[in-house]
Amino acid sequence: MAPDGEQKNCAEELKQCCIERELDRERIVQLESLLNHDPDTGLLQRHVLTRRLNGMMKDERKPFAFGILRLDKNYQRIRHTRDRMKVLLYVTTTRLTPFVGEANLYQSDRSDEFLFILPGVSKESEVERIINSMITKVAEPHNPPASDLTFGCNVGVALFPKHAKSVDELEMNAEIALGIYEEKSWNGFIYSPEIGEAHYTNQNLEFSLRKCILNNFEGFHVVYQPIVDQNKKVTACEALMRWDAPGYGAVSPDKFIPLAESSGLIVYLGKWILYKALRQVKIWRGEYKSDIQVSVNLSPIQMEQRDIVETIHTALDLIKVPGEALHLELTERAVMENPDEVIHKLIKFKERGVEIMLDDFGTGYSSLSALNNFPIDTLKIAKEFVDGLPDSLESLEMIRVMMSIARTFGFKTLAEGIEEQNQFDVLIQEGCQYIQGYITSPPIAATEFGDRFLS
Ligand code: C2E
Ligand code: CA
Repeated sequence: MAPDGEQKNCAEELKQCCIERELDRERIVQLESLLNHDPDTGLLQRHVLTRRLNGMMKDERKPFAFGILRLDKNYQRIRHTRDRMKVLLYVTTTRLTPFVGEANLYQSDRSDEFLFILPGVSKESEVERIINSMITKVAEPHNPPASDLTFGCNVGVALFPKHAKSVDELEMNAEIALGIYEEKSWNGFIYSPEIGEAHYTNQNLEFSLRKCILNNFEGFHVVYQPIVDQNKKVTACEALMRWDAPGYGAVSPDKFIPLAESSGLIVYLGKWILYKALRQVKIWRGEYKSDIQVSVNLSPIQMEQRDIVETIHTALDLIKVPGEALHLELTERAVMENPDEVIHKLIKFKERGVEIMLDDFGTGYSSLSALNNFPIDTLKIAKEFVDGLPDSLESLEMIRVMMSIARTFGFKTLAEGIEEQNQFDVLIQEGCQYIQGYITSPPIAATEFGDRFLS
């Protein structure tokens, strides 16, 4: 985390310098205060905290909680001026101080992070009560001139002596709790041995993922799932990634895709599957005289890449397939996070004839008015909305609402996760144009796909 040794050396050097120059006591105190406090927030700095933690951890009879509070992505987006960010940081400091006390709140090495101690607090319920109040307070709107800005925070907490015996372990465990909290795969913020284990398993898996990618995508392959029209004719397919990790076996995409996303590796994997899928669709189009299209998933991280438009266009050029052969699937999250930039990129995709699908429609947070601004072709209705069909009236109502949205905005519709004939029938009756699901086939290898659906 911090160059703590460096700070200690600094303090020593300062003392030595003061002695040499025979500075008076008052001046020494002033200089020490400057060295120990953050100039923006006025908070004590991390090296002071480390010294204190070392002292506190000598006595196991005196429990305490240690926490890291990190401002969320919305804070990072405030790029207006550095001064504005400083003011907001200062305001956040004043908001947090009442909950922990000035002496227990510290500035981290990161400018968007605070560290704190809750002395004497050992009960998880008490930690939760305090942290929840802190989170609520940080998220409150700001006064003018910053009233247009809101941001929140994520917190990770580890308890002494329950979770750690050393300062390094305490900081690491709070960091693990924070990391998992930020990934939203866990809705708590206090460390536990279980989340520690999950973290290390993920870390090993991520290491293996990186190694396999570097090793020419070792263990990766692509499977294809048919998409049919109302007459059950296969018109397209979705390319889905599979990974057999060496010494581990098949890892579910639901596990390795988030890992690839959080580590940034998805950019390489995404490019890899794009080229694989385009090459495959070119082969099928040639071999079976078919105009089959292939759908490739684009992660939000890929969408954020500045060269994503170039990546897609170059792939189409190099493989020499028309843009009409490609569909790109984007989740609501990918689309809504940075709408203006995304719209611009989507327009560029569409200029090449590429179709855009909104994946997992209904599970995200698209507002209807926002939807209308995006050049989307197809809404992919998430499996959870069709699961209840045909019996659940509620599911049927939801499907009807979605179909009516699609009609209003002129989107095509595709329902995924269809397993039963009676689900198929209801969806077609409600006007859904395309169906994907085990009812036709699970995702399968390319050769089997060609044999079964194209010949
Ligand atoms: P998704 O894009 O929503 O993909 C559909 C998932 O539903 C696939 O799971 C598919 O196998 C499964 N599925 C399809 N029909 C049925 C059905 O009738 N019943 C049931 N129970 N499941 C069905 P899969 O392949 O495990 O992928 C899971 C998720 O992983 C995908 O969800 C997608 O978000 C992600 N993913 C997979 N491959 C890629 C990829 O190449 N790039 C990116 N960014 N994400 C990928
Ligand atoms: Ca998809």
